[in-house]
Amino acid sequence: MLHGFSARRNSLSFAGSLLVACWFVVTNVQAEWVYQHQPIMGTDIKLSLWHEDRVMGERAASAVMAEMHRIDKLLSPYKPTSELSRLNKTAAVEPTSVSPELYALIDKSLFYSRVSEGAFDISFASLGRHYNYREQKKPSVEKLQALLPSVDYRQIQINPASRSVFFANEHLQIDLGGIAKGYAVDRSIQILQNLGIQHATVSAGGDSRVLGDKRGKPWNVGIKNPRGKGEGQDGVALVLPMVDGAISTSGDYERFFIDSDTGERVHHIINPRTGTSVGGVASVSVLGPNGFDTDPLSTAVFVMGPIRGLALIETLPSFECIIIDRRGKVSYSSGLAAPEH
Ligand code: ADP
Ligand code: MG
Repeated sequence: MLHGFSARRNSLSFAGSLLVACWFVVTNVQAEWVYQHQPIMGTDIKLSLWHEDRVMGERAASAVMAEMHRIDKLLSPYKPTSELSRLNKTAAVEPTSVSPELYALIDKSLFYSRVSEGAFDISFASLGRHYNYREQKKPSVEKLQALLPSVDYRQIQINPASRSVFFANEHLQIDLGGIAKGYAVDRSIQILQNLGIQHATVSAGGDSRVLGDKRGKPWNVGIKNPRGKGEGQDGVALVLPMVDGAISTSGDYERFFIDSDTGERVHHIINPRTGTSVGGVASVSVLGPNGFDTDPLSTAVFVMGPIRGLALIETLPSFECIIIDRRGKVSYSSGLAAPEH
């Protein structure tokens, strides 16, 4: 009996010390930077944020990663169950209703197709899916000629009333690789803002967005040296100080191979007019308020080239751009002061 009593007392005091420990953790929350990175959407997702409470900060970071996984499941062209893959299977047969989210992405893509006179075109995939950069494969001349007429955004018909999508070409396929990551970083920043976070940066490969500043100083966002080899100084062409905003970079070095027959660089940005990789430019960065616009714009300007591309950016008041051509020449839109020589 006595023994039992003392055992209970022991367990009570154990519970008591646990309570004290919990109180200690709760009242001694540490404000600090939280970092997370994960491979999602075929790229590296990186995030850093400041939270007064490290545990809450970790939770916020996990919420962002969960959102990235959700978007990947929705839009991946490699997952047969994604809404995008299902749409590609039925949209040429009959008008297919899609979720508001997928509809908004297609609608925005078609807007940028019109603005860029067809340089940005999600139906590049009709042909683009026959490129395999890892296996160093590109479509044969016959396949290219047969499928090029299916690369045409004007044959994607959307109906806002029924929120449906119809492909007026039986071989037409779409891929949102040129816009999805910019959208995903915007969604991530929205999640963090809703949780009261004021200082953060989220990047998905070449698409980044910064929230606030880095507690008293701007974020430093690097633009890769397109032909740089290392991660060090040689790996970075330019560093931009940024507070609140998005930057998207499209580069011919992200996914590519060198064609052993022609010596040409075969990479992942396709000119919808020719069905082949775009030459001349090595990287395009577009700066603006959000990734949903900077991402398609960086791809569009890459395809349009320095002259037409810069002219397009000059018509858009909230956007700036930096183009590095294959010889290393850098061009800036007029809102960015060129560095002094
Ligand atoms: P990254 O994917 O490296 O961020 P981009 O934003 O430029 O670079 O997107 C390139 C991706 O866009 C390609 O991998 C492909 O999925 C898609 N794409 C390629 N060419 C076009 C095009 N002309 N119009 C729209 N999307 C394209
Ligand atoms: Mg892009």
